[in-house]
Amino acid sequence: MQKLVLASNNAKKMKELNALLAPLGFEVIPQGELGIPEAEEPHCTFVENALAKARHAAKLSGLPALADDSGLCVAALGGAPGVYSARYAGEPKSDARNNEKLLAELGDNTDRRAHFVSVIVLVRHADDPQPLIAEGEWHGEILPTLRGEGGFGYDPLFNLPAYKQTAAQLDADTKNRISHRGQAMQQLIARLPAL
Ligand code: IMP
Repeated sequence: MQKLVLASNNAKKMKELNALLAPLGFEVIPQGELGIPEAEEPHCTFVENALAKARHAAKLSGLPALADDSGLCVAALGGAPGVYSARYAGEPKSDARNNEKLLAELGDNTDRRAHFVSVIVLVRHADDPQPLIAEGEWHGEILPTLRGEGGFGYDPLFNLPAYKQTAAQLDADTKNRISHRGQAMQQLIARLPAL
């Protein structure tokens, strides 16, 4: 098995990635297991932050590394909350307060278009000049009130007109298949190089 360090300690992400990558001969190891601390995410784009995290993990582990960064971009807000999605309403991070703030910022604006973005970066080593970059987008619209109990983050406000449901109302398998993260992961797998 080819070892791959994941620049995240999120157990859900680990499980999802392992299930996808194990059949391809990759063993995903969370960076925490190697004593690697979380990297800074100082940049204003998803790709820069994902790259910074992947490089950091590769540098400290000496192994190929994988990192992701994601968030919600709302058209009428110039792409905000973007890379600040997790902490849009400040510390401590709270999905409920983030959703409240998003509704307040949008007010009665009639342009409700929004999309989730997921960028996944794989570096073969810290100085890899050609990182593999996969990106998924998931388009929908922001409702004026919360709907649904599933998912996390902005899911209860993110409506998918084609499904007549919010992301929080979709079953988990459907969400994983069609979401920004699902699309980015499928793209990554299709392009995985021999490391
Ligand atoms: P991270 O990339 O895991 O740090 O996620 C950044 C933030 O974007 C999360 O804390 C959520 O607020 C938001 N986000 C990312 N993906 C989703 C999703 O699938 N549903 C709802 N919110 C999401």
